[in-house]
Amino acid sequence: DVGKGFLLYLEDISVSFDGFKAINGLNLYIKEGELRCIIGPNGAGKTTMMDIITGKTSPDHGSAWFGQRINLLEMSEPEIAQAGIGRKFQKPTVFEQQTVFSNLELAMAGDKSVLATLFAKLTPSQIDHIDHVLAQIGLSEQRWLAAGALSHGQKQWLEIGMLLMQSPKLLLVDEPVAGMTHQEMDRTGQLLTDLAGPHTVILVEHDMDFVRSLAQKVTVLHQGSVLAEGSMNDVQNDPKVVEVYLGE
Ligand code: ADP
Repeated sequence: DVGKGFLLYLEDISVSFDGFKAINGLNLYIKEGELRCIIGPNGAGKTTMMDIITGKTSPDHGSAWFGQRINLLEMSEPEIAQAGIGRKFQKPTVFEQQTVFSNLELAMAGDKSVLATLFAKLTPSQIDHIDHVLAQIGLSEQRWLAAGALSHGQKQWLEIGMLLMQSPKLLLVDEPVAGMTHQEMDRTGQLLTDLAGPHTVILVEHDMDFVRSLAQKVTVLHQGSVLAEGSMNDVQNDPKVVEVYLGE
């Protein structure tokens, strides 16, 4: 049991870029079904941490286990995605000309050809899977709309839905609420909360009010390692955290 019972187990990870330690002795332990919020000032190492989890960047030091047996450091980026880690970047990248439904269909097919996918006949269970994801992301009524006609918030949900088509165990979500209306933020909070449990979610977020509203465990990164961890209330009253944020 090298993963020590955690779904994601990062221990003593370090990465340098040209001698600069972007990640410096990072430990991160995520339980299955958790929704973990990662905050920290610019340059804290949040993006680099996500790059390590998804295999985009290889650390110089440390260990990274997914589940009890999967050594992330021995796997390529596509192998890690295949193993059940999905990542949503900040900007939505949906196929604007295609319907919401087709976007999900394409995401289900993965890297198969677009034309072959759109002309293939879906099985009833594939249709059920798409219907289920449409309901999860609250876009059932928009299924025949071109994705380009959706609001910014709806595009973000569609992209989360596209990740869900691959049934990931772990979802990494980068600042989903940037640019959203308050109402869209509330719905996104509900969506992320609902996804935790059946999935595990790591959320990197700058919007502190949004993080507070989720009422989940928060990890504060600073200079490539964990500065504080706990409830939003705990971390925001931690003098070390206050100093880092006021000094930004
Ligand atoms: P965050 O996402 O928290 O803003 P990053 O992970 O993007 O932080 O960056 C952490 C530090 O590493 C920053 O100082 C950044 O300039 C540096 N860094 C990140 N990627 C590279 C790279 N490819 N080459 C050189 N420096 C990098």
